[in-house]
Amino acid sequence: MVASEGKKVRVRIAPSPTGFAHVGTAYAALFNYAFAKNKGGKFIIRLEDTDVKRHVKDAEQAIYDGLAWLGFSWDEGPDKGGEYAPYKQSERLEIYKEKAKELLEKGKAYEEDGAIRFKNPGDDVGWKDIVRGDINFPGGEVTDFVIMKSDGFPTYNFAVVIDDLLMKITHVIRGEEHISNTPRQLALYKALNEKAPEFAHLPTLRNKERKKLSKRKDPVDLRIYQKEGYLPEALVNFLCLLGWSHPKEKEIFSLSEFVKSFSLERVRKAGPIFDKDKLDWINGEYLRKLDDSELVDKIWEFYNGKYSKGEIAKIVPLIKERIKTFSELETLAGFFFEEQKVDKELFGKGYKEHIDKAVETLEKVDEWSKENIDKMLLANVKKNNFKTGNFFMDLRIAITGKKFTPPINDSIVILGKEETLKRLKKYNK
Ligand code: GLU
Repeated sequence: MVASEGKKVRVRIAPSPTGFAHVGTAYAALFNYAFAKNKGGKFIIRLEDTDVKRHVKDAEQAIYDGLAWLGFSWDEGPDKGGEYAPYKQSERLEIYKEKAKELLEKGKAYEEDGAIRFKNPGDDVGWKDIVRGDINFPGGEVTDFVIMKSDGFPTYNFAVVIDDLLMKITHVIRGEEHISNTPRQLALYKALNEKAPEFAHLPTLRNKERKKLSKRKDPVDLRIYQKEGYLPEALVNFLCLLGWSHPKEKEIFSLSEFVKSFSLERVRKAGPIFDKDKLDWINGEYLRKLDDSELVDKIWEFYNGKYSKGEIAKIVPLIKERIKTFSELETLAGFFFEEQKVDKELFGKGYKEHIDKAVETLEKVDEWSKENIDKMLLANVKKNNFKTGNFFMDLRIAITGKKFTPPINDSIVILGKEETLKRLKKYNK
């Protein structure tokens, strides 16, 4: 019988507040959260903040903010309290001391240079990992190890065992980089005469070079995604697909659907690739599912009211099909709000004539509608024997400064006659 049988599921993440909220933390949180909620259990946050030197003050809040932004809720934690408080390791030092003393008294640990070491009996250790199957470490591979440092702080392997035990954690779901720590932890459970929780080691997220995500090179800080204008639902959906697949092969689904269909047995052990292009695609899908008015509100919020809702509403129909993130709006459609710098090198041959004739034609348009503009500009192209593509490209560059924009005639309608002519007249002579 395994320890978790018949017990109410309790899982946790145990991040260290060392800087910011890491996507790896979000990933572990997501899978723990889904497992707990799928089983009607509890999801807990515990902070591993005993490594004082690396502790960053705001990092703790960044973790709560990041996870809340993604829509996860936790049942117990340092900010929430709970039956097994405190949930910060730095506030549990007495507990570790007490437990270390117990081991000392039983002769299962000994003091050395002011530190306390666990006397490892050297038994074989193994467990049935829910993601990876049987994992075995031969005895002798794990030697004696420090559980309490001379400064009075516990080591990770000791604190994690005491906390998981006292907090009645039933399943430890964490990154595969901890597989090599598990034998030490299992040896401690045994020495304490306690049953160990079950273990599930999640695959490490990798970048496109198949290397572990790096703080320096990869976008691992959750705030990046907020700043670039991703929807939290889309980022969550993307994280769900890392190492896990929907039983019906769906790619777009909500967090609650994930919770319903989640099982650890469907987690693959091969390291999933964190592919930002895929995230962009998913985010675009989510944006297109919004009503125009919802999209307007979200863009307005993202830019903190920098553009009016009226202005945004005009351009939303033009960009909705191609926009991938909110921050792309200015690249794609900044010319609506502000005249852009034009690099004349972009123009084709004969651009002055193209633009001059366009000015002449557009001045004659009385009712500024898409229909009229289309009709008159096309007649002008025909009359002058211009190449349609070249003509409109020069117009596009003069008005937007770019070669890739929403459809140019639609854009001209929105910009209005006065502004369009003002821009064109800079390049027709
Ligand atoms: N602080 C560790 C981490 O974030 C916790 C590992 C564990 O869950 O046991 O990787």
